[in-house]
Amino acid sequence: MTSPRGRRSPSKQTQSQSRRPRTARHLAYEAVAAWRDRGVYAGLVIDDICREHEITRSDRAMAMEITYGVIRRQATLDAVISAFVDRPRSHVENGLWTLLQIGAYQVLMMDGVPAHAAVGETVQVAKSLRRPEWTGLLNGVLRKLSKSVRDADVVNMSADRVPIDATRSKQLDRCVFPDPSSSTIEHLAKAYSYPRWLVRDWSERLGTDETVRLCHWFNSPPLITIRVNLPRQSPEVVREVLKASGVEVAPGEWQESLRLMNSARIGELPGFAEGWFSVQDESAMSAGHLLDPQPGDHILDLCAAPGGKTTHLAELMRDEGEIVALDTDEVRLSRIAENASRLGLSSIRCQQISPDGHDIPPGPFDRVLVDVPCSNTGVLGKRPEARWRITPEDITELSALQRRLLQQALDRVKPGGGVVYSTCSIDPRENQQVVSTVLGQYEDVELMKEIEHQPGQPSDGGYQALLRRANV
Ligand code: SAM
Repeated sequence: MTSPRGRRSPSKQTQSQSRRPRTARHLAYEAVAAWRDRGVYAGLVIDDICREHEITRSDRAMAMEITYGVIRRQATLDAVISAFVDRPRSHVENGLWTLLQIGAYQVLMMDGVPAHAAVGETVQVAKSLRRPEWTGLLNGVLRKLSKSVRDADVVNMSADRVPIDATRSKQLDRCVFPDPSSSTIEHLAKAYSYPRWLVRDWSERLGTDETVRLCHWFNSPPLITIRVNLPRQSPEVVREVLKASGVEVAPGEWQESLRLMNSARIGELPGFAEGWFSVQDESAMSAGHLLDPQPGDHILDLCAAPGGKTTHLAELMRDEGEIVALDTDEVRLSRIAENASRLGLSSIRCQQISPDGHDIPPGPFDRVLVDVPCSNTGVLGKRPEARWRITPEDITELSALQRRLLQQALDRVKPGGGVVYSTCSIDPRENQQVVSTVLGQYEDVELMKEIEHQPGQPSDGGYQALLRRANV
């Protein structure tokens, strides 16, 4: 798997550089530092490190929470820490700053962690990293911060209050954020931890109230939904089996969707290895339903890896017919085959294609799904790093690629056939604007339906459009 900055998987480097970390905080330090210094996916690093060290389930959960939380809320943490450190950021070593972030995250955002443990255990990491010179500043700043904080039940914008979730915040004894009335965008960007350009963009398009709602939603623990493999198992049986193993689920929007009410390691749940279900958001399931594939259809899935939607299409078709699943990424493509095998699906044929798409099979196909690469602005809660990775320039570049992929899809559908264009973005430049520009180039294509998924209502944000080629 390539990292966001095009580097390979972190595992070898992490293993060789490891100083045998043991505590959850130390593991989190390694993961955040690897993300910060080498641009690797923190989720992959933390998985690798946890596998390498025998740690308890609760330590693993804590290491994950700190890692993802520090990355997600780093702009908030930096603003808070800066108000308690008496020297500029550039005069503090990166590793020490990372430990300050890890300590401040525990003090501010982790309910079950007493302040003395947050401070003491974080200082201990500096010692085991053999950096005794860091301990004085760490101790001093984290203690001062702990003394300054108290719980508050209000979340209205204030320069001295850190929003935690939709109902709670932490009151500090000093101002740490820009004034919300005179610098609303800057305030939101720091208090909720998003790039300024993104908050500005949301505010201009959606207004302040909706921007605050999005900021909250993407900082909240994500809602996890599973999709029952209906040809293999019934939702009732899956529900009973999960309940017996301590996981409560509630019925979702679709016949096959079940919402998890408590967190769980999905791969270890009973029925997962047997192919009874997959993890998939309900907004993503909507793409399969919109395409409405029928048993026996010949389907093209143009951007298919890792196969979440491909396998859903195969399940909806009762595995009868053929789905040609294409992608440019060989490693991600191999995950489609793995998923199909676990789910017992044999109607999927995978093929790697070149980025210019000259080798896409000509078809024509009965239906085509084109689930394009996008900014991920509808799923920022599930991908803590994504908000720091995307830039406004990326969106311009992506929309050009998205237009081309939609054209390649339309050129391969039979007369009378449907194409679903799908993104997990909430940016109109990747959604409605792509569809309307491409529609303008085809006289025989009609827009049948558009669905805008608002983040949190009830699940991921995104966009889908069904286009139909006229019968000739
Ligand atoms: N449909 C997938 C699913 O539900 O699991 C997710 C697809 S992801 C949003 C977009 C995919 O497009 C990535 O796997 C990426 O490798 C692929 N991709 C990027 N450029 C492409 C291109 N020029 N042609 C085809 N696929 C491309």
